[in-house]
Amino acid sequence: MKLAILSESPADEAALRVLVEAVLRGPVRLVRPGLRARGWPNVSQVMPAILRHLHFNTDADGLVVVVDADDSVVHTPHHDRPDYFHPQCRMCKLRAVYRQTMKKLPPAHGRERALRAIGIAVPAIEAWYLCGRDPTVSEQAWIEGQQKGVPPYTRAELKKRVYDTERPSLEHETRRAMQEALRHRHDCRRLEYDFPSFAALAQDLRGWKAAQPGSGAAASRAGRPEPASSPVPAPPPACVGAAAPSAANGDLPPVKA
Ligand SMILES: [Zn+2]
Repeated sequence: MKLAILSESPADEAALRVLVEAVLRGPVRLVRPGLRARGWPNVSQVMPAILRHLHFNTDADGLVVVVDADDSVVHTPHHDRPDYFHPQCRMCKLRAVYRQTMKKLPPAHGRERALRAIGIAVPAIEAWYLCGRDPTVSEQAWIEGQQKGVPPYTRAELKKRVYDTERPSLEHETRRAMQEALRHRHDCRRLEYDFPSFAALAQDLRGWKAAQPGSGAAASRAGRPEPASSPVPAPPPACVGAAAPSAANGDLPPVKA
């Protein structure tokens, strides 16, 4: 599989490659997206140019986009209804950008279109990095906090828990992001269960595999939003926070909450 990754920092891209390979159960080759983005809303602004670049100038299978939710509305199955679009949801927004960009493009490089896989990290990618390590951190905990008006943690606190500082150097940020992503390289189920927006990204990626020649599925099916009835992944056997002696957990020290 050949793909480009668009996210908010080179450290995140390195960690996301690990997670993408974990979902696809195999190595991927990276293609440069041609442009970098700096946070929201820049990601949605540069995405059309990147998609056109990948479609016409490369033979990439698709684009992986991951951005932080920050304080935006969290995507839910309710948003997956046909023709529905929540204007304050970043998942809905990026899916719409993809649809509008690709709908008029002719086939190129032997494929109908470059595909897309979109993940929104709720509220920030550091929450994904803490998955399985800090049991207080999950998409559901964040949504409940939004409903009560009392967030369970701030984005700065999540950064502190991952990097031990709110202003890590790029080198330190990359090292820590990779350490945490590597815990999931053999099994992403905990991440998919605790973070449905990561599960949506994983479903998109599995759709790419189904769209490959010889898979029996039409390429045009992949890259579309999953129906609201998409199965929720079963919880993995390992408990959150449990010091499972698996290779995936390595020998990293526990993070102080
Ligand atoms: Zn949405």
